Amino acid sequence: MTDINRRKFIQVAGSAATLGATIGFPSLALGAARRVVVVGGGVGGATAAKYLRKLDSNIAVTLIEAKPNYTSCFMSNEVLSGDRTLDSITFGYDGLKRHGVDVVIDRVVAIDPVQKTVQTAGGQSFIYDACVVSPGVGFKWEAIEGYNAKVAEESIPHAWYAGAQTQLLRRQIQAMPEGGHVFIVAPPNPFKCPPGPYERASQIAMYCKHHKPKAKITILDPKFAFSKKGLYYEGWAKLYGYGTRNSMIQWVGGHDGGKVEGVDPSTLTLQTEFEEFQGDVINIIPPQKAGAIAYAADLADGDWCPVDKRTFESSRHKDIYVLGDASSAAKMPKSAYAANSQAKVAAAAITARFHGLEPGDPTFVNTCYSIVGEEFGISVAAVYSLDEKKNMIMPVKGAGGLSPLDASPEIRSREVSYAHSWFKNVINDMLE
Ligand SMILES: Cc1cc2nc3c(=O)[nH]c(=O)nc-3n(C[C@H](O)[C@H](O)[C@H](O)COP(=O)(O)OP(=O)(O)OC[C@H]3O[C@@H](n4cnc5c(N)ncnc54)[C@H](O)[C@@H]3O)c2cc1C
Repeated sequence: MTDINRRKFIQVAGSAATLGATIGFPSLALGAARRVVVVGGGVGGATAAKYLRKLDSNIAVTLIEAKPNYTSCFMSNEVLSGDRTLDSITFGYDGLKRHGVDVVIDRVVAIDPVQKTVQTAGGQSFIYDACVVSPGVGFKWEAIEGYNAKVAEESIPHAWYAGAQTQLLRRQIQAMPEGGHVFIVAPPNPFKCPPGPYERASQIAMYCKHHKPKAKITILDPKFAFSKKGLYYEGWAKLYGYGTRNSMIQWVGGHDGGKVEGVDPSTLTLQTEFEEFQGDVINIIPPQKAGAIAYAADLADGDWCPVDKRTFESSRHKDIYVLGDASSAAKMPKSAYAANSQAKVAAAAITARFHGLEPGDPTFVNTCYSIVGEEFGISVAAVYSLDEKKNMIMPVKGAGGLSPLDASPEIRSREVSYAHSWFKNVINDMLE
């Protein structure tokens, strides 16, 4: 590679995390094609697969995903209010195939870091030079007595993966009598989508306001605070009477005994340290950890997978890169935008390694929008860079922030449009 090409590559790769989908990368041919196997076709995996091909079309990329289509969790709360269908958040993998990604629908059951192979439940085996793992979260079923995967499927959905459980929860809310009570059990930190449970309460309230105005929605929460709390309080006060005796939404935090310890599915009764609550509809979002394959492949240390935060290479096994919700990437939140941003950094680092180059200095970006009501959107945004001394991905001071309190109706309405256009953009960036 000439010096000019080398310089250009480093510049482009270093800024890949914050650029859009239209970057043109030179093809940097080097003898035999390198093979990357990507495990999980969610935000992190799909983005990494696409950007590896964009960075160097000589890299052979195979993406292995358990499900034939991707249903995004982001925007799935809108299914609960009836504002959108599950179909509108379900996408196929043809776009990735057009980028030359070989898409295999199968479940990965093992990764051998010595032989550098990936095994699937369907009996297939794939050799890799680098493996990207972005399996999302798993649940700590043991944390709430009486709750398990079967109960979640049959009667008390978590709906923290969008799909059949989202539809079940929607049907339960529709079937609930007027004046009925919905309980949402929020998880402890860290978990996927920090503002998500509160947006969920808002979306359910949005439906109830029109169809069951006497309904109550109570969030039982082990935490003492939550993401964008001030903005949520403001929206709930304006839209759902928060702070008054007739408020449709209540939040019971850790200091008021909000930690749920058990559930009796036969009576829809929740047990906290001090009290019992009986609901008409219950949504339990269990405490979380990395997805199962992270444990099968020995990538996790405790609940999450430690990584080199410059490249997202696993700290436990060389040539395996762990992205998104499953990775330990503090202080980035576990969000789609974060996974998308991390995937570009990892794709650039893998490509750099294949070319014998050092990875660039990464920057990351995240914005989390939440739709509190019909014309009421709020957001939090941050740009992040690597603080090598602290071994943390730290927010860049002065970049980003929360949307303002007491904003005009125009701003709130615009944030809803921004949320919807962000959704289209991120789906395009990962899958088209
Ligand atoms: C209700 C809700 C609302 C949200 N809203 C937002 C939002 O507004 N903005 C935002 O930025 N984020 C939001 N999120 C968070 C976002 O969905 C996740 O952070 C993001 O999807 C993480 O990407 P990922 O690649 O880590 O995992 P995922 O996108 O969950 O993808 C993991 C994929 O891996 C596959 N997989 C797992 N194990 C295997 C295996 N062994 N073999 C093959 N395939 C496997 C799964 O089938 C899945 O497709 C929301 C989440 C929820 C629940």
